[in-house]
Amino acid sequence: MIFIDIKEKGKLFNILKEQLKNLFKEGDKVAVKLHMGEPPNPYHLKADMVKKIISILKKLKLKPFLFDSIVIYPGGRDTVEKYKETTRKNGFYEKNIGCPVIISDDYIEVKTENLNVQVCKPLAEATALLVLSHVKGHMCSGFGGAIKNLGMGGVTKKTKADIHGLAEPVFKGECKGCGVCVECCPVEAIKLENKKAVFNYSKCWGCGVCILNCKNNVLKPKKAMFDALLAEGAYAVIKNKRKQFYLNFLQDITKLCDCCSDPEGIVLEDIGMVLSKNIVEADKTSFDLINKKAGKDLFLEIHKKSPLLHIKEMEKLIKC
Ligand code: SF4
Ligand code: SF4
Repeated sequence: MIFIDIKEKGKLFNILKEQLKNLFKEGDKVAVKLHMGEPPNPYHLKADMVKKIISILKKLKLKPFLFDSIVIYPGGRDTVEKYKETTRKNGFYEKNIGCPVIISDDYIEVKTENLNVQVCKPLAEATALLVLSHVKGHMCSGFGGAIKNLGMGGVTKKTKADIHGLAEPVFKGECKGCGVCVECCPVEAIKLENKKAVFNYSKCWGCGVCILNCKNNVLKPKKAMFDALLAEGAYAVIKNKRKQFYLNFLQDITKLCDCCSDPEGIVLEDIGMVLSKNIVEADKTSFDLINKKAGKDLFLEIHKKSPLLHIKEMEKLIKC
């Protein structure tokens, strides 16, 4: 693992080149996975920086391409055509970046404990993986780093919907009507009727915050917690990949993810970059650095669930 302090950010490209030179081999088809922005959110990784990384990959005689998948919710990325238009607006097009830009919902299926994960085909077929992640808060996973980037961003719309849907809350005991879940649901999907919690599943994202915060312990997920399902998605993407490298950017650390049209701004000063061959190490180090800077589990306080939950789920899977 390498950490580059924000004051020394200029060192990134040389350090990255040295790391990749020892890991990837000439001719490797490298999928560069990143979120290319959802207008009008301005905090995604920028094309100029990604362009420099692509130039390093090409100097190493690798064959890079940028990749991202389409999303469930309406906006600038919910169809291949709309996302391609978004990438063009944000500067992510071949003539500017220097490599092909692929947006696709094609897949190959990988079975995990709770899911039939539809892994995006371009990721599955690449010989190597370079994952660029802007680390920021996230309503469902506490924060979004490399695990979120692959667990949700490396799978199809169908699997994204499964991860959210199979994590929706159901009762396993009798509701006491305390109303705690009503207060903590981030999308107002719960109300009390006749002193019992009632869920509006059309609004629910399956984040599990109500399950974690119900003091009476009467809730459980339909199949598994969001954190476990997200980790399964990421695991399915990297399971058969020998060559993988993660670069986490701890800059422009916002409350909400790059998908939100209203990210509600930056919640912590820039920290730097984390580089690792190990997805858990990249995210766990990012988690520790954020909390050290904030002096608390920042995203547990903001989103009422700690990012550590999904990081630990991923750790269990890669140890198996
Ligand atoms: S927090 Fe639990 S006990 Fe309280 S209203 Fe919600 S589901 Fe019922
Ligand atoms: S899982 Fe999340 S979004 Fe769904 S009802 Fe519970 S707190 Fe609200």
